[in-house]
Amino acid sequence: MRGVNEDVFYNRNLKNINEKSFKIFSIVIYSSFIFIFINFSFYTTKSSINYFQLFANAILLLTTLYLIFITQKHSTNKSGFYYYTSIGFSFAYYGLFVIALDTIFVYPKEVVNISSKLLFVCGYSLLAIGVTKWIRYNENRQDELSYQANTDELTGILNRRSFTRYLEHAFKNAKIRSEPFSLIIIDIDFFKDINDTYGHMVGDEILKSLSQLMESSFRTSDKVCRWGGEEFAILLPSTGMNNAKNVAEKIRNKVENCSYQVKEKSISYTISLGVSESLVIDENIDKIINRADKALYKAKDSGRNCVKAIRT
Ligand code: GH3
Ligand code: MG
Ligand code: MG
Repeated sequence: MRGVNEDVFYNRNLKNINEKSFKIFSIVIYSSFIFIFINFSFYTTKSSINYFQLFANAILLLTTLYLIFITQKHSTNKSGFYYYTSIGFSFAYYGLFVIALDTIFVYPKEVVNISSKLLFVCGYSLLAIGVTKWIRYNENRQDELSYQANTDELTGILNRRSFTRYLEHAFKNAKIRSEPFSLIIIDIDFFKDINDTYGHMVGDEILKSLSQLMESSFRTSDKVCRWGGEEFAILLPSTGMNNAKNVAEKIRNKVENCSYQVKEKSISYTISLGVSESLVIDENIDKIINRADKALYKAKDSGRNCVKAIRT
């Protein structure tokens, strides 16, 4: 869902597009009147007009005018779609316009044939480019939106929402294959003090560097996410409690022994970890999350910088 600021931005953008669309739209309308006027001055009208053909052409012209208007109104400048489709539809419009005038005025046949076909060829080529651009733009936008929906903005790793989906999937798999998975919840120790001492920006950088460290430390099948604030969660599919504890201990040790460099200072910090494993009796993922959470509290109570696990 769009935020308030984005809405203001979006509407402002739409307003700009509308102003532009009215320009091209007006050019097409005015030029049509000028053409009709010139034609009445220079050409004679047909003795018998095919009114059915004229009516059909008028409908096609109005539809194309509507398409010129609507494509401009709902497209964005960024995609390039706006320019190609509006000009493409305008060419197609003029092609139809020549054919419509041909039902009223006496023209040389060749002039009508060649000019309308040329206009159609140009119009449909531009439309093809415009629509291709529109499809590409939407594909990219779709990728961008799904990336934004699944990724934590600060750290670039999975957010809690998409991680929960992996967790649900692992939960179903564990039930079907009777193969447990493990969950580790990690919390940075005394992170508030780091923020207070070095500032929020440094705190943010530490969160980013820890995310990268974790992403590079686990298998690709393991999922690392920012659980919230200074907490992270790791899903270890097809991994039992003992292995998960070993993995947790390794990452705890790694964090303890590396430091974050900021200017001349090197900042060291530690993490506490809670581990749980999926059980056959678990009705839902909340049970597994609760045990990992409890284990994390236990780790905090035991003096921090340690791994604790809760089996049942
Ligand atoms: P404990 O060892 O008990 O976990 O202590 P703590 O200081 O880490 O825990 P506490 O819950 O008191 O503080 C967490 C801090 O994490 C407070 C909050 O400002 C900070 N924090 C949460 N999210 C962010 C963030 O995105 N960026 C920064 N820089 N700090 C954050
Ligand atoms: Mg916390
Ligand atoms: Mg903390």
